[in-house]
Amino acid sequence: MAVLEKLTSQQAIDLENKYGAHNYHPLPVVLCKGKGVFVWDIEGKKYYDFLSAYSAVNQGHCHPKIVGAMMEQAQTLTLTSRAFFNDKLGEYEKFASEFFGFDKLLPMNTGAEAVETALKICRKWAYEKKGISENNAQVIVCNNNFHGRTTTIISFSNDPVARDNFGPYTAGFIKIEYDNIKALKEALENNKNIAGFLVEPIQGEAGVYVPSDNYLTEAKALCKKHNVLFIADEVQTGIARTGRLLATCGTCSCADKNCSERPNVKPDILILGKALSGGAYPVSAVLADDAIMEVIKPGNHGSTFGGNPVAAVVAIAALEVVRDEKLAENAYQLGELFRSEINTYIETSNIVTLVRGKGLLNAIVINDDEDSDTAWNICIALKENGLLAKPTHGNIIRFAPPLVMNKEQLLDCVAIITKTLKTFE
Ligand SMILES: *Cc1c(COP(=O)(O)O)cnc(C)c1O
Repeated sequence: MAVLEKLTSQQAIDLENKYGAHNYHPLPVVLCKGKGVFVWDIEGKKYYDFLSAYSAVNQGHCHPKIVGAMMEQAQTLTLTSRAFFNDKLGEYEKFASEFFGFDKLLPMNTGAEAVETALKICRKWAYEKKGISENNAQVIVCNNNFHGRTTTIISFSNDPVARDNFGPYTAGFIKIEYDNIKALKEALENNKNIAGFLVEPIQGEAGVYVPSDNYLTEAKALCKKHNVLFIADEVQTGIARTGRLLATCGTCSCADKNCSERPNVKPDILILGKALSGGAYPVSAVLADDAIMEVIKPGNHGSTFGGNPVAAVVAIAALEVVRDEKLAENAYQLGELFRSEINTYIETSNIVTLVRGKGLLNAIVINDDEDSDTAWNICIALKENGLLAKPTHGNIIRFAPPLVMNKEQLLDCVAIITKTLKTFE
């Protein structure tokens, strides 16, 4: 069969369109190679990657340490299932638990699975520890959330494209406005059956919405007061993306250690995915302390691939790269530089209204309607100029390069972005 012969980009696109379900609308570029902050298309054109696979490739494409660990393990032992122990899982669980400061880790594969896992742990905790009566546990979530694509998760989405015609929906979720502490307070005070509050520290897919400085700190305090689990979905914001290891807590890279702009709240349940593997392999995890994690008993939950030895060594290597290459500090510094450069551009721009974000998770808002195609057209032009980014909405473009970028490369990218934007003014 000839499919493995070298295709043109158009042929590759045609194959996907003919034989693949149309569940994505990709930018028309076909990538065949990646290294660090760069990717190449079939025709050999080189691009800066400013999406990083939705922040899964924080450590850069094909990081030799991560790929090396993966290859060595792939030749030794790939999968045992959890019917047996393997020699890598425990080592990884210890490493990651200590790395993030939790007692225990539950290994899964994808972000959505980890969110599902967190919700199951939360509900079980609510019945067995908090004493909520059977089937009455409620979890508070936020409007415009993105937590994945499973049936339960889309049940509490308010995006009609993600949700419509996939019902009936899973019950037990209360939606409140994001970044509205009063709404959370009221939801908690009026209901004795609240088990948890599931929140993104920054709403990534919604368009990189950064909440007010004290929001997460106050939310955590309210959860504590009402004996409700504070569940942080850091699948996108975690692993150094926002300028420190986690967006909710951890060492701050800015000079002011008490800076309220950088909350220090330890989640009761932490959800990680994406860059936990450096983009090499699907690895996700849920972390919690014993008092919560102990509700999970043999048979309650599982996954055939979750915790396999390849995933374990890949995740250790991915976290070591973040630590050893000081990626949080780099993301912090380059993020400050990026926003300051784009803000300078905005001063004289009619097409860009603002830039927002933390670390290297940023977005620009285009001066056009939410359902316009201006952001898409800008991304097409950026592609022509050698930089790949993707709109999150009709008028919002997310900019999230790998965190291994250097200052010179970032300034080069700013030049590409501003040159491109100028043609739309
Ligand atoms: C990407 C993402 C998920 C889902 O991860 P998958 O691996 O695609 O299932 C969940 N939560 C957040 C915040 C995400 O960005």
